[in-house]
Order: sequence, then C-alpha cells, then structure tokens
Amino acid sequence: MSSQQEPQLDQKPQSSSEMQHLSTRLQHHPYQPPIGFDAVEPGVHHASTVIFPDVATMRARDWRSKAGYTYGLHGTPTTFILEERLAALDGGRHCVLCPSGLSAIALVDLALLKQGDTVLLPGNVYGPSRELAERFLGDWGIQHQIYDPLCPPEELARLITPQTKLLWLEAPGSVTMEMPDLRGLITVARQHGIHTAIDATWAAGVALQPFDLGIDIVMQALTKYQSGGADVLMGSVTTRDDTLHERLLLTHMRLGLGVGGDDVAKVLRGLHSLPLRYHAHDAAARRIATWLQAQPQVAQVLHPALPGSPGHAFWARDCGAAAGLFSVVFRDEIEAAQVDAFVEALRLFKIGYSWGGPVSLAVPYDVQAMRPAERWPHKGGLVRLAIGLEDAGDLIADLKQAMQRLISTD
Ligand SMILES: *Cc1c(COP(=O)(O)O)cnc(C)c1O
Repeated sequence: MSSQQEPQLDQKPQSSSEMQHLSTRLQHHPYQPPIGFDAVEPGVHHASTVIFPDVATMRARDWRSKAGYTYGLHGTPTTFILEERLAALDGGRHCVLCPSGLSAIALVDLALLKQGDTVLLPGNVYGPSRELAERFLGDWGIQHQIYDPLCPPEELARLITPQTKLLWLEAPGSVTMEMPDLRGLITVARQHGIHTAIDATWAAGVALQPFDLGIDIVMQALTKYQSGGADVLMGSVTTRDDTLHERLLLTHMRLGLGVGGDDVAKVLRGLHSLPLRYHAHDAAARRIATWLQAQPQVAQVLHPALPGSPGHAFWARDCGAAAGLFSVVFRDEIEAAQVDAFVEALRLFKIGYSWGGPVSLAVPYDVQAMRPAERWPHKGGLVRLAIGLEDAGDLIADLKQAMQRLISTD
C-alpha cells in the first residue's frame, strides 16, 4: 500500500465529511476512462438501468428513438450496432432483435394479427411456427391456413379471404426443402393488400435479397449462420416500412423481448466472417449432395441448387448461393431402423438440431407424419444434413462408411 489514494479496506470512513463508506464507494466510481477509445469490436454494454444526466433528459427521452437510451430492454449501444448492421445486410431500414428465431416469428404474428384474422403458412413451414399457429394463435381467435409451398400464385389467390392478413413464406421450407415461387406469391399477396413475411434463415442475407422481391418483413434465426458458433440463440425482424416497424417495435416492447449484450457480441463477431463461411458451407454441401445423388441407396437429394430438386428453377432465378443444409431421401425398401443405424454410424456428423455451426449434423425425420400423402410419395426415410466446416472429402468418407449399414442388412 504505497499510495495514499489507495482505498482503505475497512468500513470506517477516513473522515466522515470527506469519505463515504466502503459499500457506497464501491458503487460510485469517480473515475471515467478517457473518451476516444476505438477497437475492431464495439464494447459490450450490459444494462437494465440506463443513467440520465438530469430529470429533464429522462423525461424527454423517447424509448423508440435510437438517438438516446432509456432502459436496457429498449437498447444499448451494443444492440443498436447489431440491429443497424443486420438492417444493412438485409437491405432493410429497421431491425429488432429477439431472444431466438422462434420468438422473432411469434413477434411478427402477434404484431400483425388479431382476433378474427387468418394467417397463411406454407406446408413446409418451420415446425414450431406451425405449432404456434395451431396450439396458441387458435386459442386467441386467430386462424391459420396451410398452403402448398409449390402452388402456382393463382391457387394461393383462391385461399385469400377478407380475413387473411399475413402470408408467411419460407425459402426453402424446412426439412423437405421446396423452394417456392417467391415473386409470384408475393405479387398475389400485394394485390390483395396482405402483409408478407419471409423466414429467410437459410439465405442468411447472403443468398437472397427478399426486399428486392417486394417482401414486407424479413425474419431470420441468427442462431444459425450469423452466429456461426452453435453457441447462441437469437432472432431478428427487419423491415423497410416505418409504420410496420413501429407496430413491431410496440409489440416487442409490450412483450418485453430483450437480448443480452454478451450474446449480441457473439453474433457481431460471427458477422465478420458470414459470407466466407456461407460460401464454404455452400461449396462443401453441393459437392456432398452431388456425391449422394450418385449413391444406389439414395432416391432423391433435396437441395434447391441441384437440378431436379423441388423449386430448383425458382432458386436459380432468385438466389445467388445456397446454404449448407439439405436432405437425403433413401429408397423405399430401406427401413426406418436402417436409416437410424446409418445416422448413428456417422462419426464426423453429430446427431443434433439446428445448423449453421462449425460441426456437421444429421437428423432423421419421419416425413410421412409431417406431410400429406399426396405431397410426399416416398416411403423411405429422410435424413437432414447440415454441412459444417470440416473438409468435404472427409465428410464424404464418413457418409460412405455409414452407407454400408444400408446395404449389408439387405
Ligand atoms: C432454427 C430455425 C428457426 C428458429 O430459430 P431458433 O433460434 O432456434 O428459435 C426458425 N426458422 C428456421 C427456418 C430455422 O431453421
């Protein structure tokens, strides 16, 4: 203890008039770091309470404005930076962050729908989004209708009633990977004055620019490629329209949706390498998907960038790249138990949900239970593969050794 300015670690004030108690001094620091610090990564701000310089400033602050801060739930420099970067990435003007991709979907539904309204969902919509409509929105008097994601625009037009208020699109849809005619479906919705929202998680702001196709709302699970680490959950909702943004922001505030600064920092870090990772996942996935197409055990590979995949022509028209996520359908005679054994025989591919991370993943799905029989003619099992950042040749070797399980038992 050389310096006289060193704080005393006893509870007694040095001089009752000058020095406050230790417990007080620990909460109130006179030190302010010099301004002007700059670094590659922005600082991570943690806050529930935001401190105002005076009462007049506190009263004048508008929680909706990004010109100032009011409360941690309404934004910190850290969350504002990610929102602005994502809005720019998507070609939008406004962005709100949600604690998961699913909560971002729920935010769109709850902001745009009320009792008596109907929402249109594609038959290949992300499963929990359908669950939300079936088991939750229905109890609040909001109906949903399922449409065929590959239907021509005229067919969608026939489903629209005066109660229809929102059209959800997903490009491509989950698990069965059909790529819809985004331009055609969006045009029909606009003609009927219906809002359109897209779950663009697969495109991740890299493969597709949905606002250029006339979409109103872009939703993404940042959990996937934007984070890239398989270690954080977050979602975003981006808009170009000020009025729509206001509706979303009010609902976001009323539901108390917030994200933590440390999680935001992880996504900000992931964003730097997003295009590099996305294109690496894309190249490896296309090589592996093409190899799988040639295997005798495989009936079909569902990858929008491969000719013959459902909606491939729409992918070729609207997209400039593809994600590392696709599905493999095995031949009818291969039994479900063999497919499970194939998944368990994989060594580099791990068994687990989600995608967009560094490690490759495989999940078998019971599609017969998920899709109407007329849309799903296959009897064989389906495995969804998420290609990570391992070497594509090593992944093919892994698939090849696991494929032995599918022949040997025949
Ligand atoms: C993962 C996913 C979501 C949900 O994201 P979470 O952050 O896991 O809630 C939504 N849509 C699609 C297409 C997804 O793959």
